Amino acid sequence: MSDKFTVIVAGAGPGGCIFARDLAKAGIDVTVYEKGDYETIGHNWSDAMERSALEATGFAAPFEGSVNTGPLVKSKDAAGNPAGIYEQHAYPYMEVWAPDYSSRKTVNFRYVTTDRRALGKLLVDQARRAGADVLFQHEVVDVILAGGKSLGDVEVTGVVVKDLETGEARSLQADIVADDTGFNAILRTKLPSSTGIAGKFSNEEFAMVHRTVRKRNKDVIDPVADHYRYGYNMGYQWIQYLNEDEIDTGAGVRHDPKNPDPKDIVEEFISRHPSISDEVIRGGGGLCLVGRSPASLVAGGFVVIGDAASQTIPMTGCGAGGAMMGGKFAAEAVIAAASKGKNDCDALWEYNRQWFVGSKRGANYAGLTALRNILQDLTHDDISFLFRKDILSNEMLTDSINGIFTLPDLPTMLKTLGGGITRPGLLLKLNAATTAGTKIFKHYLAYPPEWDAARFEAWKVKADRLFAATVK
Ligand SMILES: Cc1cc2nc3c(=O)[nH]c(=O)nc-3n(C[C@H](O)[C@H](O)[C@H](O)COP(=O)(O)OP(=O)(O)OC[C@H]3O[C@@H](n4cnc5c(N)ncnc54)[C@H](O)[C@@H]3O)c2cc1C
Repeated sequence: MSDKFTVIVAGAGPGGCIFARDLAKAGIDVTVYEKGDYETIGHNWSDAMERSALEATGFAAPFEGSVNTGPLVKSKDAAGNPAGIYEQHAYPYMEVWAPDYSSRKTVNFRYVTTDRRALGKLLVDQARRAGADVLFQHEVVDVILAGGKSLGDVEVTGVVVKDLETGEARSLQADIVADDTGFNAILRTKLPSSTGIAGKFSNEEFAMVHRTVRKRNKDVIDPVADHYRYGYNMGYQWIQYLNEDEIDTGAGVRHDPKNPDPKDIVEEFISRHPSISDEVIRGGGGLCLVGRSPASLVAGGFVVIGDAASQTIPMTGCGAGGAMMGGKFAAEAVIAAASKGKNDCDALWEYNRQWFVGSKRGANYAGLTALRNILQDLTHDDISFLFRKDILSNEMLTDSINGIFTLPDLPTMLKTLGGGITRPGLLLKLNAATTAGTKIFKHYLAYPPEWDAARFEAWKVKADRLFAATVK
């Protein structure tokens, strides 16, 4: 190990930037290599971001009201330049509608709509101000490996980085390499498959999402309330105001060629709502990860953060907050390891423990993934029935949309039995989903507290078996 502890981060997404910022603040030498550009970092639209993750990573989220206020809310600065990251319209509560519009629920929506380009730049600025180097137009193309082939033996000792402007590739050594390259997990997937954490995400672990921000046609009376339509094509569709003049609408569907293109769903919705004009302000789309995390987020000299680690809420694909929390937890573990002059799997294990057990994020997401796997072929009619019977209640929807797996309690089970009696097949499926989800949630809470090859292997085998039972 070098005299000064050095860290290389691949990717300047929200997770990579928080990780680099926190390490630099602790005096660690950290360099971020990002293949894109500063001006186009993030998304060209605004995303729903978890208030709790923003607050935990040092951003004052506005007080819950119907209008966002505070210094980070979008406005123009004294020179007329755009400033701030949060959209003006606030969502303490969100109406969630059944796929067939027959029933509505009210969900405590613990998100703040946040401009992802403005946030992306702010995160890079914060990392730089803390002392991290952030180099754009640099693509990490390979990892340098030493040691053996199993998770406890392998060591990542550096990366190969290509300067996209000059075409020059260089091999660089580091004590820790972090993979924050998004759902392609460019570095994690180059580890030996015998580590058990190198697998690529499968097609079924993605949703296809499209969103468009349009100018609002204020002359037309069209009472479209802000809402989410839940379970539509096993995904969701939404409309929300960003401010007086802009409407954001979009759809996400399970990544399956049989499903309609989300762009068509959005166009059809807009055709029914003349208050949404043809004037496109921002928008775009792509694949959104709704899959399962690898069994470990660390190896010797290596941590995985954000989408590369599937730190996304499986019911919605929201992963910016999870990535920031992953970056924070990974930084805490690396700082502790560096203080002991260590970088092995054992020294970094605290990141796994904190993600899966301490914060319960990993356990919640795993439980929700099991529910999603089993319930994903429910029809629109089934889901609408569950809404009407209040089996999908305000509380259940609030939890799952906010990334929390809730263990079913007795009154809920009784209500389920009473309400679902006319559809025994559906009842059986619900029971299978909650049983599997509960087993998986509990199994994740029993994640090995420290690195132990045999214990980890036994835990992983059981996790794979439990998940295998949730897919057809
Ligand atoms: C259409 C759509 C809508 C979404 N809506 C929401 C939402 O409302 N709320 C929410 O929380 N999340 C949403 N997400 C998901 C969210 O964008 C991701 O979960 C989040 O950005 C993941 O952050 P990350 O830190 O993993 O990095 P990413 O944002 O995935 O960024 C990875 C970075 O790594 C760079 N990179 C990739 N490969 C390399 C390489 N080899 N070398 C160097 N750099 C590399 C990329 O250029 C990129 O900048 C949405 C995603 C999509 C596609």
